[in-house]
Amino acid sequence: MTAENLRTAARRPMKPPLFIAAVLTLLLTGCQSGPPQRPQPQTDHGTLVTKDHVKTTIEHEKAFAQYYDVPAPAGENWFAIDVGPTPVLVVAGHATAHTREGARKAADRGTGSLAVMLHKLTGVTAIYTVYASPSDPNYDDDNAFKEALSNLLQALQPTLVLDLHTSHADRPYAVDFGTMAGQSLLGRAELLANLEEALRQAGVEDLSNESFSAQRHHTITKWVARQGVPGIQLEINFTWLAHAGDNPTEAHRVAKLLQGLVNFLQRFEPSEATEESQSLPASAPR
Ligand SMILES: [Zn+2]
Repeated sequence: MTAENLRTAARRPMKPPLFIAAVLTLLLTGCQSGPPQRPQPQTDHGTLVTKDHVKTTIEHEKAFAQYYDVPAPAGENWFAIDVGPTPVLVVAGHATAHTREGARKAADRGTGSLAVMLHKLTGVTAIYTVYASPSDPNYDDDNAFKEALSNLLQALQPTLVLDLHTSHADRPYAVDFGTMAGQSLLGRAELLANLEEALRQAGVEDLSNESFSAQRHHTITKWVARQGVPGIQLEINFTWLAHAGDNPTEAHRVAKLLQGLVNFLQRFEPSEATEESQSLPASAPR
């Protein structure tokens, strides 16, 4: 699967009331329409994550893996945006390898496919790297990713930003939440409380707070909070994310994590701001 196919596969089917969002999606990510999709299975509480979703997540990550360490070809952008109707923005700025102070750092494996699946299953907007990055969006401010992110904040007016990262397997938690000791929630403490509750109910119980507080350097969480949008950094243990797909435990954990995040994100109704957006982000990838 090529990077372009990855973007195409990630795209959400269009819905008539969301014309502007659809236009944004097309202009931001290309001009092909996404593949037809069956309605998602529903439970009393919303979408039920199935084994097919898990399989698709793993396939997406395999596609990302082909480009973890490959620089973008001339004229192509190193990140992609999938615009959805709900007022939540999911960021995976380390989905591929990145460059920090001149040194290459490995991809946060599993975060790209997770961002893509959350977009497909819940309608959030997702921005994620697709090629090796010439910068580090979670460390530097002066890069095209941050510029596109800033433009997205203005155009979509999200209620919340979730910034996805991968923690080493030897960390003692499944997910650690970084909120600059609460500052990045901007008074919306219930956002984190609801996220934690949704994950626990789905069986993701080893949660921690502020092991990585997102305070140091120019983190995504700090960046969005300064622009008036609550942000939560999720450091997800490597063992809870999709990788090769040959491990039943991995598949089981991916299903739980996906279900918990889906349950949380489905509480957000489609945004009027998305529909009312009149202008495109100026530096969006073409
Ligand atoms: Zn990271």
